[in-house]
Amino acid sequence: MQESKRYEVVVVGAGVCGIYQLYRLLEQGINVTVLEAGADLGGTWYWNRYPGARFDSESYSYAYSFSDELLQEWDWSEHFASQPETLRYLNYVADKFDLREHMQFDCRVNSAVFDESECIWKVILEDGRSLTSNILLTAIGMLSTPTLPNIEGISAFQGESFHTYHWPKEPVELQGKRVGVIGTGATGVQVIADIADKVGSLTVFQRRPNWCAPLKNGPIDAATMVEIKASYDEIFEKCRTTPGGFLHGPDPRHVEEVTEEERKEFWEELYNSPGFGVWLGNYRNVLMEDAANAQYSAFIADKIRSRVLDPQLAEKLIPKDHGFGTRRVPLETNYYEAYNRSNIRLVDLNETPIERVTENGVRTTSEHHEFDLIIYATGFDAITGAFDKINIEGPRGNKLRDKWQEGPVTFLGLQTHGFPNMMTLAGPQGASVSSNFPRAIEDAVDWATAFISYLREHQYQRFEPEEAAEADWLEHVKAGYDMMLLTKTKSWFTGYNSNVEGHDKLRYQIYLGGALQYRERLREVAENDYTGISFS
Ligand code: NAP
Repeated sequence: MQESKRYEVVVVGAGVCGIYQLYRLLEQGINVTVLEAGADLGGTWYWNRYPGARFDSESYSYAYSFSDELLQEWDWSEHFASQPETLRYLNYVADKFDLREHMQFDCRVNSAVFDESECIWKVILEDGRSLTSNILLTAIGMLSTPTLPNIEGISAFQGESFHTYHWPKEPVELQGKRVGVIGTGATGVQVIADIADKVGSLTVFQRRPNWCAPLKNGPIDAATMVEIKASYDEIFEKCRTTPGGFLHGPDPRHVEEVTEEERKEFWEELYNSPGFGVWLGNYRNVLMEDAANAQYSAFIADKIRSRVLDPQLAEKLIPKDHGFGTRRVPLETNYYEAYNRSNIRLVDLNETPIERVTENGVRTTSEHHEFDLIIYATGFDAITGAFDKINIEGPRGNKLRDKWQEGPVTFLGLQTHGFPNMMTLAGPQGASVSSNFPRAIEDAVDWATAFISYLREHQYQRFEPEEAAEADWLEHVKAGYDMMLLTKTKSWFTGYNSNVEGHDKLRYQIYLGGALQYRERLREVAENDYTGISFS
């Protein structure tokens, strides 16, 4: 990269979102580059190499929909593809459309400062290099800033240890090893289920259990793949009709509208079907009303009891502090059965909290556990963490991390007042956070691409959302929170992270109005000459 090379658009991040945005901008003949912190493309699917990492969305509903040719060329091997396969897919896409040559790797952006006099972003990389761009597009992921637990002694440990996000590229020897896992979110659940039969011993440190449900994955044979390829139009159309952009949408009935027998039969069907139906395909009020939710939670609790042989252990694995689906539901394969193995042990941190990590293990209030390997599956500074890490500075020296300190404020989840010529593609308060990511990302990227065409057409040099439009959007986002039980529960969805200072209260950072309404809002704004945004 040359010093201060000038681009029309800089995209930060070469993950699922950045790849598609690059494709669309090149199609328009725009002078664009993608800056990627990693040594290669793939974002989430580049970093998360931990054993068991795989889709929770059906592979074919996660694929890019923009190219029929691509859809017809690519064969998925499983209904829920694993991380290596997804990374291969993203590489295939980049190679097929000659995208790689427009990407620059090992380019971590340290700072982006808007220069009002030239109406340009000055982007400075970690290694000191700089470049400029008329428009800055962030595609930096919502779960890309891993957080280690705030436990003393982490660096004292002499064995191997890492956060799941930083699982090494080189094979990690597990056989015969004494392994500790801290964290039982969607990541921890996948790792634990995958390695339980590979390690010598496995100790799981659990603070709060999650409601997990079977993924029901399976291979896709050649004949099925032919059928899938013939059905892509229907697959994507179905995704366009559901609030989460998944193949699973809510049943219009309420729990009380059906007989107990009918309800039981339906719930059995959901529990035994692949994917997120068990969470998102339920009666409409299960995720909205306490009484309906309690009934379903009791049903799932019994399923857990039926899968874990030790009744006391089963009780520890059943959440008591929140109802089913009010936090992200980890989908699993033999997660509960793993606890029936003799080499696995659950440490309930509510009974015996961790005191510290030591040279050779983890000390709780009751004992010292010795390990060869400690795996931190302790989550992320979600949604705004990646923004906070970059010094994003507006024209008056105003910093984005200050503006968003108490929680993000945006217009449409895509732009923010005080930061002209910037779009946050997978940003807070947009639908990508609460949807099947590629589906929502295609909406956001298509909108941003059309917006950039509009700027060019009108020869506008500068855009910035108005404060009033942003305030209205915040009210709209907040209204979505009133409807859902999940906003009463502490999780990364609602902005909580015990390992990040100040993240101990509700933050309005996800869009809960559903992908359909979000798409409609985007359309309305575009059709009304981008009302709410000032141009010059
Ligand atoms: P997470 O859901 O935030 O879970 C973090 C876990 O670490 C929780 O169990 C948490 O306990 C525990 N933890 C954090 N700090 C701790 C501490 N100081 N002491 C003890 N325990 C601590 O993070 P995640 O599992 O990485 O998942 C994040 C998101 O990534 C998911 O919700 C999902 O959206 C995405 N994901 C997707 C897939 C997929 O598509 N298949 C797979 C994995 C992840 P508490 O619950 O008590 O806070």
